[in-house]
Amino acid sequence: MAKRLFLLTLTLIIGCVFVVRLGTGDEAASGGKTLVRNASMVLTMDPALGTLEDADVLIDGDRVAAVGKGLPASGARVIDGKGKIVMPGFVDLHTHLWQSLIRGCATDKELNGWLGGCVLPLQGSPVSGADAYAGARLSTLDAIATGVTTVTDWSHAFNPDFARGNLKALTDSKQRFVFAFMAGTAEWIAPEVRRVKKDVIDRNPLAHLQIGTHPAGWNVAGVEASERLAKELDVPLNVHLLESKADPATDQMGVLRRAGALRPGLLANHVVHATDAELDELAAHDVRIAHNPLSNMRLASGVAKVPDMKARNIKVGIGLDGGTNDTSDMFNDMRAAVGLQRAQSADPSRYPTPADVLRMATLGGAEALGLEHEIGSLTPGKKADLQVINAQALNFAPKVDWAAQLVFNTQPVNVQWVFVNGVALKKDGKVVGDTERVIADAQAAADRVRKYLGR
Ligand SMILES: [Zn+2]
Repeated sequence: MAKRLFLLTLTLIIGCVFVVRLGTGDEAASGGKTLVRNASMVLTMDPALGTLEDADVLIDGDRVAAVGKGLPASGARVIDGKGKIVMPGFVDLHTHLWQSLIRGCATDKELNGWLGGCVLPLQGSPVSGADAYAGARLSTLDAIATGVTTVTDWSHAFNPDFARGNLKALTDSKQRFVFAFMAGTAEWIAPEVRRVKKDVIDRNPLAHLQIGTHPAGWNVAGVEASERLAKELDVPLNVHLLESKADPATDQMGVLRRAGALRPGLLANHVVHATDAELDELAAHDVRIAHNPLSNMRLASGVAKVPDMKARNIKVGIGLDGGTNDTSDMFNDMRAAVGLQRAQSADPSRYPTPADVLRMATLGGAEALGLEHEIGSLTPGKKADLQVINAQALNFAPKVDWAAQLVFNTQPVNVQWVFVNGVALKKDGKVVGDTERVIADAQAAADRVRKYLGR
């Protein structure tokens, strides 16, 4: 009897501790449950589940446990879903997080003018890991605010310290991420990339590695070294391809071809100036493409032939591309992807439609990264990377066609909750983190970077 009483007391104590932990607001971080109850719309992006109305989404630990009506709430934090939309978090397929430090830089220049004024002078400058951290930290919080749960960060890795600061900001963000480490022929890089993979990436279930490089006739050795490293580490290569009008003359495709880098998993950013034959070749090798409409508009790069990519079944997602569009607004990026094609073609049915671009920004990005079995839809068993959007706002209401309104009306301020791996990174409209301090640190870093740029 005494033993049973002891066990009962012990159970009560453990139960109380659990309840207290639930009350701290870090339920999901401790492996708990969250139920979004009675959401007015659940856009699952899973063709088998479709879009549900007045339904629940249950998060258990790091997974989506269930989607449906009347799910049990026992032991779960409950979020009232009335008037709200639940959908997968966004996959930002291409960005440079540190570039928040050069927002608004050289807005009158095209790609090469912008690079020459705002990026390339930093090579050989004392730009530090602390500066990289400050810029990337700001960007990660801004990305979380707009519902981005997975970010693909092409890091310029100006020096080892810079790369470490950049990577630490990604780790601290608690977002899922792909770190594309710009490699090349410098002696420090290959050993550092191997160390980063072993010590940081392989130990963090949210982290993935790619090798970044720039294909061009003047960088054959760099591309070959990068491709060798990518093969050795069994990770994809990540390149800027045919972005500006000047790029085809640098023999980008030829350099990739001769290096053996045109192979499944290669992530090519932009691909604005590809010929039909080049798109055929990219499709034949299962190369994936990041479309960056806001960046292409800002740098006057042109309009990517996204419908032609779709016709070839190329896996295409969308990206924000860091300082080349100045914002981290994925809704704006989706609007631009739809609008660019319509403005060019005068055809409102042209790919991508609002439904298409929602897929590109979620499951499409996941497919391009080879992560579609883990993320990209609210399929039970997948990782709990999702967002809850408030549709009862002046810029969103009333309800007419919510799926279309997600593209045409939504702003980051409408995103109320963001979960990555079951952990809430935006709660009730507020990003988790000391935003004032992050902004102040970014300002100090931007002031230093401006001096290095001589601006
Ligand atoms: Zn880029």
